[in-house]
Amino acid sequence: MTDNTKIIHSSHEGPMLLHGEFIYLKNQERPNGNIYWRCKEYSTLKCPASITTKGLSTDIINLSKQEHFSEHPKTSNLDVGVLSMLNNCRKRAITETIPIRQIYRSELAGLVSKTKDIEKVAKNIPKFENVKKNLYKVRLEDLPKIPKERSDIELSLDRFCLHQKFS
Ligand SMILES: [Zn+2]
Repeated sequence: MTDNTKIIHSSHEGPMLLHGEFIYLKNQERPNGNIYWRCKEYSTLKCPASITTKGLSTDIINLSKQEHFSEHPKTSNLDVGVLSMLNNCRKRAITETIPIRQIYRSELAGLVSKTKDIEKVAKNIPKFENVKKNLYKVRLEDLPKIPKERSDIELSLDRFCLHQKFS
């Protein structure tokens, strides 16, 4: 059931939910932690379709009974491929230590081999120069912080108190 549902993290529009052929944007978090998503075309066409998930997951609690407007564009396989590729780059920027450019290249190669259409991919994929800044930022934010202040280090631990015990 969750096969055609996916969460994508985008840098400028926040989290997105891909469900079937449609993209939803995070609208609000309910007090119980559930997330309410609205069709991406809500802002432009007021498409009323929405989804509620359990937290930031693909666990769907409620699918709106309202259908998508028939005239609005469906997401193509290529759109989904591009979004997934950027999402993978983001994930790998955090979990792997190889250069960002290398990650981007390998994900791009993966997308080209999947779609078998290098021209279309080239037209739709953001250039490395446009995404690298964000990917570096994501990687840096995830690095554990090194304590800088003396007060950040727990001095009451036994190993710091040994000399006092014997004096
Ligand atoms: Zn819609």
